[in-house]
Amino acid sequence: MKTGVHGNLVSPAGIPPDARAVLRIDLAALRANWAALNKLSGKSECAGVIKADAYGIGLEQIAHALTREGCRTFFVATLDEGRRARAVQPGATIYVLDGLLPGAEEHYAGFSLRPILGSLAEVREWSAFNRGKGRRLPAAIHIDTGINRLGMPPAEVEAVAASPELLKAFQVALVMSHLACADEQTNPMNAAQRALFDTLRARLPPAPASLANSGGTFLGPDYHYDLVRPGIALYGGRAFEDGPNPMRTVVRLAARILQVRDVPAGNVIGYGATFRTARDSRIATIACGYADGFLRALTGSEGKPGPAGYIGEHPVPVVGRVSMDLITLDVSDVPADLVQRGGWVEVMGDRVTVDDLTDRAGTIGYELLTRLGRRVHRIYEG
Ligand SMILES: *Cc1c(COP(=O)(O)O)cnc(C)c1O
Repeated sequence: MKTGVHGNLVSPAGIPPDARAVLRIDLAALRANWAALNKLSGKSECAGVIKADAYGIGLEQIAHALTREGCRTFFVATLDEGRRARAVQPGATIYVLDGLLPGAEEHYAGFSLRPILGSLAEVREWSAFNRGKGRRLPAAIHIDTGINRLGMPPAEVEAVAASPELLKAFQVALVMSHLACADEQTNPMNAAQRALFDTLRARLPPAPASLANSGGTFLGPDYHYDLVRPGIALYGGRAFEDGPNPMRTVVRLAARILQVRDVPAGNVIGYGATFRTARDSRIATIACGYADGFLRALTGSEGKPGPAGYIGEHPVPVVGRVSMDLITLDVSDVPADLVQRGGWVEVMGDRVTVDDLTDRAGTIGYELLTRLGRRVHRIYEG
């Protein structure tokens, strides 16, 4: 099956003939990645972060696959993502990273979603809501240990600690914080945030604790606490800078060849005429562009070749600008019988990883994944 998407003129089984670009999602690899992180995190629980439509890959399908592997706790960003996750996972524990939107308490309670309370105001509101209902619903407390984004700064933690009745009104199911530099294993900020986390959570009643995202999970047992919250590593992305990425590839993108043409030396290709052929070339135009999530920054211009896709074993570099719906590739060095209208080119996969592409484009795997367009046909395998 895997070989079918490149260098093959016939749409392999499972790909409808009208599909122009295909995103293959390897759920077996996803589950293996979760199992590896679960093992790495030892006796702490391994949750799954499925915010932003599970990093663009498909919230429902990913939640289902992770649940099958044993994952019981999920983190989403928004209330709406929480509702979607709840619809497919009635028994799961679901935390909402946005925290509590003012006046939205019923929406969390109605779907058994746990807000991650990141300010004194949010703690007060959840507390008052629970008192009003005569219930003690679970929520997480988010402490800011230096990222200065969401979460209670030290002074607010002290304020909450000084009003114990606030936390008595509901169940503090988790106390968490978020690392700013977990992808840099030697960055001293990691240890500083961990130390502050310990100091601040000691001011609150005892509760399960969580600090690590994917990168944090790789920082070792000191960072695992009771629960780890990996996202990017589940999806095969690089969680830390130093050393090879141990995760399995989950996402592969392939697109069909729409046209092949001979372009003599000295002609330009694409918008802006930024690329001129240095030799007589064969150019394939494929059905994938920045509207499908392929970054426009991955353009190939003279003096700066673009990334390579693959036709079979043959690398085919991007030449000229990436346009909305199309990419042009230099296929001059590929045997002609492999390059025909309707054939497939692997744009992203094991050989050209998400991180290879985003390193070139000056961004991160997270951004590329979450931009993969809805018009790309998706196939969930395994
Ligand atoms: C996104 C996010 C995560 C997951 O981060 P990765 O780097 O993708 O593992 C964990 N915790 C919080 C608070 C987040 O916002």
